[in-house]
Amino acid sequence: MGTVLMIGAGGVGRVVAHKCAQLPKVFTNIWLASRTLSKCDAIAAEIGRDHPIHTAQVDADNVPELMTLIERVKPKMVINVALPYQDLTIMDACLATGVHYLDTANYEPLDEAKFEYKWQWAYQERFKEAGLMALLGSGFDPGVTNVFCAHAAKHHFDRIHSIDILDANAGDHGHPFATNFNPEINIREVSANGRFYQHGKWIETDPLAISTRFDFPEIGEKKAYLMYHEEMESMARHLPEIERMRFWMTFSDSYLQHLDVLKNIGMTSIEPILYQGQEIVPLQFLKALLPDPASLGASTKGKTCIGCVINGEKDGKKSSRYIYNVSDHQSCFKEVNAQAVSYTTGVPAMIGAMLMMNETWLKPGVWNIEQLDPDPFMAALTVHGLPWQDTLFKGKVGA
Ligand code: NDP
Repeated sequence: MGTVLMIGAGGVGRVVAHKCAQLPKVFTNIWLASRTLSKCDAIAAEIGRDHPIHTAQVDADNVPELMTLIERVKPKMVINVALPYQDLTIMDACLATGVHYLDTANYEPLDEAKFEYKWQWAYQERFKEAGLMALLGSGFDPGVTNVFCAHAAKHHFDRIHSIDILDANAGDHGHPFATNFNPEINIREVSANGRFYQHGKWIETDPLAISTRFDFPEIGEKKAYLMYHEEMESMARHLPEIERMRFWMTFSDSYLQHLDVLKNIGMTSIEPILYQGQEIVPLQFLKALLPDPASLGASTKGKTCIGCVINGEKDGKKSSRYIYNVSDHQSCFKEVNAQAVSYTTGVPAMIGAMLMMNETWLKPGVWNIEQLDPDPFMAALTVHGLPWQDTLFKGKVGA
């Protein structure tokens, strides 16, 4: 059905490349480009001769460089699995060269730990006028969690009252401290103030100040902390009847203790400091010291469980659904050489791209994933490695 260009050869990029290569009728020609060519070559070599992957080096902060690459490759679309800092430059290059766009995380300026959709939503008219599509947030959270909510809105409820998104990673990688995806992005997200949505307003909390206990299927009871997460911003806009929305994530005690110390000594700061005449950003230096998340696949054991508890009503009758996926780190590694956090992000990126390539979802404009028909995406999740459960929920989340 056409050529695809992936940008970013990290943990998620590896999974997207493997998954696209499994569908040669959809992704007839696959290109993988990133800042470090050797990482692309390593992934291409691992996928093998049956599914050739072309590789290229690119600096995705540089629009003319991106345009040259896109003009050479002539893809139908670009899958952006580099970092959130590159979202706007890649969108600019897609507009300039007339190709569709997909990503898994919203734009974040490098010098300010603030991720918001406003910068990407501002591209709406330009993409529409160019007849191009930009699909935002086609990972797991954001991504699958938004689709779970769209599925509940379509099949279970006339009106949704509240959503609690619960993300548990019970994987053990054997290191006292490491992050499961890009450490810089991960630590910026976790150290930010918490925020939840209630009656049309955002209520801010100190970082990780509110917690709850939740019994996660196949994992057991875990403490989960209230955090701000980007899918709530788009869902507050697109599902306006929602009264309350919260996001919860589990962390091990060891992770939190290390993070606390690192924060107290200034190692998580993004303010540059002068060290022996050279400017360094402490968080970027910390990233260089920590294990590369892509290298954790072989050692990570255990499961992830991510899902949504959704309360609503249909024909005047109130009920709650719990829709979730459980993934196993070792099974993911066996299939694509990556742990479950990369897998659960890379598979939905491939599925979003497939639904654009085969034109099931293709339409001009900038779209968040909950704005599209959830049915083909939900069906594809089961086929491509992320089976889900949709159950009646009797309990209560949080206070
Ligand atoms: P990694 O850090 O493992 O990989 C990022 C890749 O992007 C690396 O190959 C890196 O190259 C490349 N890159 C960085 N800057 C540039 C640049 N200027 N030009 C070209 N390539 C560049 O991150 P992950 O794979 O873990 O995450 C990828 C994306 O997925 C991130 O945006 C992350 O926020 C998102 N994500 C989304 C989730 C979701 O559920 N929605 C969950 C997890 C992640 P190099 O190797 O040279 O540094």
